[in-house]
Amino acid sequence: MKKALVCGAGGFIGGHLVNRLKSEGYWVRGADIKENEYGNVNSDEFVLGDLTDPIVAGKVVEEMDEVYQLAADMGGAGYIFTGENDSAVMHNSALCNLNVLDAACHAGVKKIFYSSSACMYPEYNQLDPDNPKCSENSAYPAAPDSEYGWEKLFSERLYFAYQRNHGISVKVARFHNIFGPQGTWKGGKEKAPAAMCRKVAEAKDGASIEVWGDGKQTRSFLYIDECVEGIRRLMESDFSGPVNIGSEEMISINDFAKMVIDIAGKDISIKNITGPTGVRGRNSDNDLIREKLGWSPSLPLREGMEKTFAWINEQRETALLVKNEQQ
Ligand code: NAD
Repeated sequence: MKKALVCGAGGFIGGHLVNRLKSEGYWVRGADIKENEYGNVNSDEFVLGDLTDPIVAGKVVEEMDEVYQLAADMGGAGYIFTGENDSAVMHNSALCNLNVLDAACHAGVKKIFYSSSACMYPEYNQLDPDNPKCSENSAYPAAPDSEYGWEKLFSERLYFAYQRNHGISVKVARFHNIFGPQGTWKGGKEKAPAAMCRKVAEAKDGASIEVWGDGKQTRSFLYIDECVEGIRRLMESDFSGPVNIGSEEMISINDFAKMVIDIAGKDISIKNITGPTGVRGRNSDNDLIREKLGWSPSLPLREGMEKTFAWINEQRETALLVKNEQQ
């Protein structure tokens, strides 16, 4: 039986990945500084620990065949684009990567996966909302618009340096806006899809929801199951990456908000306000993943958003019920 470690198992993608590996017959150890908020993790063993501590990293990699390093200090635009969390984002995430990769190498782990982000692409290629460029070979000259993106770029290079110097097999994916049930949906670290669902779920008919920016900025969003499928396919392939794992279904943020309002069946208007927005346009470019893995994500955005809205609405209603019972 293969043994895998998932770092960041207390988080959104890590929790789903643990469950996927379990369904494939792996023995799985999860590691995170916190428990999975929604209990969405069926690991055989879960280690609560801080991976910025090299001793913790050294322990969790022991006896593992594969490592999936997803632990990072991250959040949505309200967390990574305000500037207030820059030092924590860079320090904590870089240390998790430095420690886990080095420990994995010394422990004789054969293969390690690293989750980079589309935030490492240069801002100058993402100024036109209708025509952003995010092909893998457009990363340099580097000019990410956030420290989060710079840390991802540094860590990508770190993984490939270890592959060259120490022979550990490395797989690097650049995720583009992953969303779905069991993801953070409140508290300040939530990303656009969850924030949009929460705002629409909370709004009454006739009310408006606030959307950051002029709403003309574009993005693509990938449903969690397809992200996990991409991770596993990359891990089983003989391609190292870096490769985009994202959707090519680009949409403006205001149209995205309208989609959620339509899913909810509510009469709600949009109020665009000033807020942290990131680059003007971003879309995944899936030519390389199609070429190397013979696969690319295909689920329509609306289908994923219907499932996500239903889950967030249910979470909100449960929270309200509990609050009312306590009063
Ligand atoms: P998440 O915040 O839900 O999960 C990250 C987990 O890392 C959290 O549970 C957190 O507690 C853990 N962590 C942070 N610091 C730690 C530490 N010092 N020790 C141990 N654990 C620590 O985020 P996610 O959406 O599941 O993202 C997973 C990975 O994918 C991250 O590396 C993220 O940067 C990357 N990524 C995500 C997206 C997205 O849209 N969700 C997009 C691009 C890249």
